[in-house]
Amino acid sequence: MMVFPGDFLGYAEEYIPGYGVYEEDGKLFAAAAGKAVVEDKTIKVIPVKTIPEIEKNDVIIGRVVDTRSSFAMVEIARKEGSERALRHYDRGFLHISNMSDGYLKNVEDGVRYMDIIRARVIDSNLKLSIKEREMGVIRAICEKCGTPLQKMKDKLKCPECGNVEKRKVSEYYGRGEW
Ligand SMILES: [Zn+2]
Repeated sequence: MMVFPGDFLGYAEEYIPGYGVYEEDGKLFAAAAGKAVVEDKTIKVIPVKTIPEIEKNDVIIGRVVDTRSSFAMVEIARKEGSERALRHYDRGFLHISNMSDGYLKNVEDGVRYMDIIRARVIDSNLKLSIKEREMGVIRAICEKCGTPLQKMKDKLKCPECGNVEKRKVSEYYGRGEW
């Protein structure tokens, strides 16, 4: 079975999580794109290269399409420096531990649904990091009124309604094309 990062694979009572599998609240999710295989009681994901054009250390621009309690899924729009759009289902995996050098209590303190982010690819299976100063959220809209938020030190503020929201904000916030 072909799986993509974030796909639900089964329950922790059924399987032992192996390579490329992430456990959260007793549920098992794919942390990599590849083939899900069960051996004895262990479920693992054997990575396949779905996107040869994206490699470790590349910088990507993407949109947060889902957040769970400890990670976010990012739809990768493009690799920085390349114009070619990618297939819509190319998704990266951003774990809360790769969102900041400091401790984040919630995923939402780092990124939120529909944010546009600039991220570093840290392995060949589209695992992402936004720890670097230049990485993080580059565009976000106000949760209350939908207006694009403006950068204010390490927080974001809505020029319309004054709402202030927390994010892991990139130094590139609001700059240039995304
Ligand atoms: Zn607002």
